[in-house]
Amino acid sequence: MNTKRSGELFEHAKKLIPGGVNSPVRAFGSVGGVPRFVERGKGASIWDIDGNRYIDYVLSWGPLILGHAHPAVAEALREAAEHGTSFGMPTTIELDLAQVIIDAMPSIEMIRFVNSGTEATMSALRLARAHTKRDKIIKFAGCYHGHADMLLVQAGSGVATLGLPDSPGVPEGTTADTIVVPYNDLEAVKEVFLAAPGEIAAVIVEPIAANMGFVKGKHEFLNGLQTLCKNNDAVLIFDEVMTGFRAGLGGAQRIYDLDPDLTCLGKVIGGGLPVGAYGGKKEIMQSVAPAGPMYQAGTLSGNPLAMSAGLATLRTLVGSGVFDDVSKKTAKLAEGIATIGKENDIPVQTGHAGTMFGAYFLRRSGVEITDYETAKRHADTDQYMKYFHAMLEQGFYFAPSQFEAGFVSSEHTDDDIENTLRAVEIFVKSERRT
Ligand SMILES: *Cc1c(COP(=O)(O)O)cnc(C)c1O
Repeated sequence: MNTKRSGELFEHAKKLIPGGVNSPVRAFGSVGGVPRFVERGKGASIWDIDGNRYIDYVLSWGPLILGHAHPAVAEALREAAEHGTSFGMPTTIELDLAQVIIDAMPSIEMIRFVNSGTEATMSALRLARAHTKRDKIIKFAGCYHGHADMLLVQAGSGVATLGLPDSPGVPEGTTADTIVVPYNDLEAVKEVFLAAPGEIAAVIVEPIAANMGFVKGKHEFLNGLQTLCKNNDAVLIFDEVMTGFRAGLGGAQRIYDLDPDLTCLGKVIGGGLPVGAYGGKKEIMQSVAPAGPMYQAGTLSGNPLAMSAGLATLRTLVGSGVFDDVSKKTAKLAEGIATIGKENDIPVQTGHAGTMFGAYFLRRSGVEITDYETAKRHADTDQYMKYFHAMLEQGFYFAPSQFEAGFVSSEHTDDDIENTLRAVEIFVKSERRT
């Protein structure tokens, strides 16, 4: 595969932009090789600048559930652009998008739009702290909630670790109130609540974790978090930036039949434009300025282009059967990979929820990944690196890291899925241990 132009551009890019990219994983750091410069996308395909075509299972890291340049989204954007791209004044399209989301997710009674998932989680936590008049928050190792200072903590072995920042530049004071607990470990959360009675403002969790690979929250775990928060007057925040309209049309919360106090959204609800949102119980949301005292603002929040792309996307999904169809293809892909692994004695752990999936290559059989520790211990990142490049060479773009989820769109055909599985099989047979 010729990647000459991408290679040259990447070298040039590194002189202009740190690491050559505007978000770190794009640089292929954990898999090596040349990050592709994309020229265009259509449906399930992207073409790089050297003319290579790939079936895309990253889909801009989740948002493009209708694939690239979907006619409904493109048309909505064209129309919005012709009417003016930003006003900093209310428009009806914000109400339309708010209504679609509120109808789909019963726990959300009111919603505020922001411009990224990072802003959504950051604001939801400020709101939870304002509402409870407490400072401490609980997050889980391996859950990613964007890059706000207080959330850039993952370090957590043992039961509960007091947060130490993951990145230089994050003052220890900022993360001192962030308590990190292992994912899926309800006992550890109970211990934290016992040790700090009346001090926990919020628990923030990815109900299905999609930033340490793909790990489902156990039902008892998530349900237990809800009970603990209720009994301790703490705010339960579901970070559904990834899972909202991806795991299910009502997010993971409807799959698990849970009722978080606040929910963070992003990705799919912006249809490929920069959007985030946080919403939830009216009683809490009424504290957001100007209805209440908690300050949060945004020059471009509720931007007409972003709202239009999101609305066109959600309207295409809701009530149409499109989502179920994509979910079936996703299941076929994930289960197909599992079968190929089994038939060839290559241990893999796959999972799927709605239109998202994950596949870990394991260092040995008989182990299960349920949290960040086990993900780091059992995932065979070297084998994933080989897999990633083997798939890329055959024209299939999976995430350039073992610890990311995969995504399917309405534009992936059954043929695409079958061709993908054939390519997976070729790789797995070549890896077969004798
Ligand atoms: C992507 C993501 C974020 C951050 O969203 P950005 O738009 O990248 O700031 C937060 N939480 C989860 C679960 C995500 O997947």
